[in-house]
Amino acid sequence: MAVRIDGKMISAQIKDEVKAQVEAYKKEGKEITLAVIQVGNDPASSVYVGNKKKACEYVGIRSLAYELDEKTTQQELLCLISELNSRADVNGILVQLPLPKHFNEEEILLAISPLKDVDGFHPMNVGNLSIGKDGFVSCTPAGVIELLKRTGIEMEGKECVVLGRSNIVGKPMAMLMLRENATVTVCHSRTKNLKEITKRADILIVAIGKPCFVTADYVKEGATVIDVGIHRKEDKKLCGDVAFDEVEQIAGAITPVPGGVGPMTIAMLMKNCVESVKLQK
Ligand code: NAP
Repeated sequence: MAVRIDGKMISAQIKDEVKAQVEAYKKEGKEITLAVIQVGNDPASSVYVGNKKKACEYVGIRSLAYELDEKTTQQELLCLISELNSRADVNGILVQLPLPKHFNEEEILLAISPLKDVDGFHPMNVGNLSIGKDGFVSCTPAGVIELLKRTGIEMEGKECVVLGRSNIVGKPMAMLMLRENATVTVCHSRTKNLKEITKRADILIVAIGKPCFVTADYVKEGATVIDVGIHRKEDKKLCGDVAFDEVEQIAGAITPVPGGVGPMTIAMLMKNCVESVKLQK
């Protein structure tokens, strides 16, 4: 039976470490500020934004909330971002995605200063990650690395398979595992013989957005399985991309949903806000 990797506990540790760093900055007279922009009132986005505000409160980061009307134009949002880019008292800028359909998201993400891009989505930060330079790293994959490190799971020299190649999870995840000296294979919807590949993995990271897709026959005995997926079932309960009950029987370690990768994302966002002070120096 697999060891359960406790993301709730590890994310709480990280938030407490961030809280101590924020307090230390405050003693030096430096307050850290995160600007969070939400356009429209998509219920899921409102929950995410609310959780980010709560986390800011907990660690002592000042949050500026911009709740913009659904009809806000591309130009108006670009103007707000430009103003926040130039404000010395704002360290991080986050635009909650998805934006309403009339926005060009790519242009919006590009407008955020790479030094304030705490989500790590700006092409310059993505590029820095690829060439091993300092910069912000997308919070969810960065959270997976922390989970593995703090659980004592060795990555160096291990066979790692990342299932999914999205810009916010799969690709940065693969780059981070490479940085940790794992041997990395990335799979996607056109991959042939998927099970054969996933069964080679010492560490299998699943981010494909399909509930309970990965069953026990995709997993090597004793492997570490990280489930990034998150879905709400008809009975309102949460589940991941991995069929937890059966995979738990054969894996060596596994993240549950909820309580695995999910809580790490916001903890890493808080960590990025503290990092922003160093990068901006
Ligand atoms: P996404 O953009 O939809 O990407 C899914 C990836 O999976 C794509 O690369 C796709 O391949 C691949 N894929 C889809 N079906 C496949 C199949 N049958 N076989 C092999 N590969 C397949 O999703 P995402 O944004 O990366 O998110 C993935 C999951 O993580 C979702 O459940 C999402 O809700 C969750 N998530 C959680 C957090 C968190 O904080 N815990 C954060 C972000 C996302 P192609 O590229 O070929 O289409």
